Amino acid sequence: MEECQRSIGSSKSDKVTWLANQIFKAFPREVSGLKFYSLGCGCTYYQRISRDGNLDPQIGIYRDAEKGACEICMGQDEGWRDRVIDEVVIYNRQFEIDFDH
Ligand SMILES: [Zn+2]
Repeated sequence: MEECQRSIGSSKSDKVTWLANQIFKAFPREVSGLKFYSLGCGCTYYQRISRDGNLDPQIGIYRDAEKGACEICMGQDEGWRDRVIDEVVIYNRQFEIDFDH
């Protein structure tokens, strides 16, 4: 039982970490961090955090390509926050190092 919970937790955070690294690579100067929202349907929503610490109002959506389109999320742009089961913020460590210099 314990092992099962541990493996679920690590695979979820691995996905978010991987996605964060992709976005940090694409926007190395503009994005200092990312806020991720895991939804019960399996989709991941995220907002960029700018250099001055503000959350970007634009929401990004990530979903595993192999799972196809999400019927729950389609056409429900306004209600997604009610379905958030987990939130995590990841900061760009590379950015912090640059900032110190
Ligand atoms: Zn969904």
